[in-house]
Amino acid sequence: MIGLIAATAAGRRGCERLAAAWPDRTRVYDAPVAPALERAFAECDQLVCFLATGAVVRLVAPLLRGKDSDPGIVTVDEAHQHAVALLGGHGGGANTLARAVCDVLGAAPVITTATDAVGTPGLDTLGFPAEGALAVVGRAILDGERVALRTDAVWPLPALPANVSAEAGPARLAVPAGRDTAGTTDSAMAKTGSAPPDSAVPRIGVAADSGAAGRGDRQVGPGAGSAPLAAEESAGGPQGGGDAGDGRFTLWVTDRVVPLDARTAVLRPPSLVVGVGGSRGVSADEVLALIRQSLADAGLAAGSVAVLATVDAKADEAGIVEAAERLGVPLATYGAAELAAIEVPNPSAAPLAAVGTPSVAEAAALAASASGCGLLVPKRKSAMATAAVARRGPRGRLAVVGLGPGARDLLTPRAREELRRASVIVGLDQYVDQIRDLLRPGTRVLESGLGAEEERARSAVAEAQEGHAVALIGSGDAGVYAMASPALAEAGTDIDVVGVPGVTAALAAAAVLGAPLGHDHVSISLSDLHTPWGVIERRVRAAAEADLVVTFYNPRSRGRDWQLPKALGILGEHRAPTTPVGIVHAASRPDERSAVTTLAALDVRAVDMVTVVTVGNTATREVAGRMVTPRGYRWQAQPQGTQNTAATENTKENDQ
Ligand code: SAH
Repeated sequence: MIGLIAATAAGRRGCERLAAAWPDRTRVYDAPVAPALERAFAECDQLVCFLATGAVVRLVAPLLRGKDSDPGIVTVDEAHQHAVALLGGHGGGANTLARAVCDVLGAAPVITTATDAVGTPGLDTLGFPAEGALAVVGRAILDGERVALRTDAVWPLPALPANVSAEAGPARLAVPAGRDTAGTTDSAMAKTGSAPPDSAVPRIGVAADSGAAGRGDRQVGPGAGSAPLAAEESAGGPQGGGDAGDGRFTLWVTDRVVPLDARTAVLRPPSLVVGVGGSRGVSADEVLALIRQSLADAGLAAGSVAVLATVDAKADEAGIVEAAERLGVPLATYGAAELAAIEVPNPSAAPLAAVGTPSVAEAAALAASASGCGLLVPKRKSAMATAAVARRGPRGRLAVVGLGPGARDLLTPRAREELRRASVIVGLDQYVDQIRDLLRPGTRVLESGLGAEEERARSAVAEAQEGHAVALIGSGDAGVYAMASPALAEAGTDIDVVGVPGVTAALAAAAVLGAPLGHDHVSISLSDLHTPWGVIERRVRAAAEADLVVTFYNPRSRGRDWQLPKALGILGEHRAPTTPVGIVHAASRPDERSAVTTLAALDVRAVDMVTVVTVGNTATREVAGRMVTPRGYRWQAQPQGTQNTAATENTKENDQ
């Protein structure tokens, strides 16, 4: 619940606007301010105070208990110009709340949490549970101190700056057979690092601290440089503490218990799966105690447990369900037959008789780990429960991100977030240039020239398969005549894939032209480089016969100039010479040019490869210089007063 507090009329108006925007999440506390704030502080997770920051600081000072329990607090000035994230920037969500308040009030957020302000991820915002000296190590990262990154695998973390450098951690992680990733990135680097400019081979660079381009062979962050993988399991835990005694800072990314000191922080990757079994009526306390003991004895951290797994027959065993809830992880269940087929070190007759598989805990742990890493902890037993632990290999993340047609404000917030979530960016050099300033310092950039689609798709997937967080970028929508299909044709179930839609050229152009896409429409690429002309022509003819509005992508280049006139000719067999045609060059970019003309008058020389051409259907009209395709054109085309009522109703319904 968000508590809203105000002292003045302007403040109360602000409260009303927020309450109207978020009706189910807000509660307005009436003045007088001091007791209102005290009550709200006790009852709410977050507060928005339309009060001076000084006043709020004085009022909440005696109420503060600690970072973990205090609400996030945002203050807003009398003129609603600024929303200040005053308290609980990360943990209390005040930074996010301040931005959300700004969206409603049209104000500007004031964020002073160091990591957010400079674009370096706070250690508690990297998506993994974090432990240890988070503030100290986070500060060291910001201050440019050398921080040793010790990781037992490549995890899909955002980029970290250059002062956080990988160190061959002694912790070792078994990787699934056939996925020995040790050194693969380095060899890829060696192959591509010396590529001549403009070759089809990706060039590699790292976003510099300023966010500007840095093309070189430097690699930083938890990316390629942090791939000290070994395809074997070390017997013991990692040796050595975080502080090697030379005063340096250490950031671990590991599921192992590591010695903590005042300069060491640990991120817990979601790498452990715990298989559990239990007799009917087993208590959650017993299940949890057995799990904790098993992990502790093996030197493993509970923070890395990603899932509890058991047999279907135990899906509603209260103690097991509650144990998963209390650990804050999902419970995965598997059929007895599936578990029975898994080879385990310690099969037994009892579960075979009870639930139809000779192993529950070990088999479920192996089933949920899905990587063939083997068991870290074979079956352990208490009076009524069993537990076994296996390790999951990292899953990389491939975000396929559409950048929109060019203008920065047509890049979606989600796309922006994914660019900052990534440690590796893959894309055409001209698209990388479009967003280079948004990348986190330390982001590795694999950019290539035109025509290297397959290479780009393959390297994006390969990087994700190695565990990295990769953003594969494309202009417009990355799935429209772009990289999503070749990349996903290569990608398997071993990586997570996230798609971020972008404003495709047809839509950007339509907005410039008016409303040409108001009825059924189709996009056709006139590039016959990969599609035989016969196929293209068949589709143009079908669109012509079906009276669809058509947007031509890739309409004309220097070496490909007869296709557009030919396609327009086919449309002309079915549409009047006066049919409106819109031409938009470089939609939303500084050199944007557009014209509305007709099929007969179109001069194809005005069309190049940064242009889309939109041809209206038989009902499309030019109105005040804009292209308009009526929606219900059957009745709109008729003179006023003779409208078909049913069609009118229909249109009204569609409008809702
Ligand atoms: N994925 C892109 C399309 C790539 S195909 C998208 O969704 O927009 C490349 C073609 O898209 C170009 O030849 C041109 O026809 C069109 N195009 C891309 N951006 C454009 C823009 N800003 N203005 C006009 N046309 C554009």
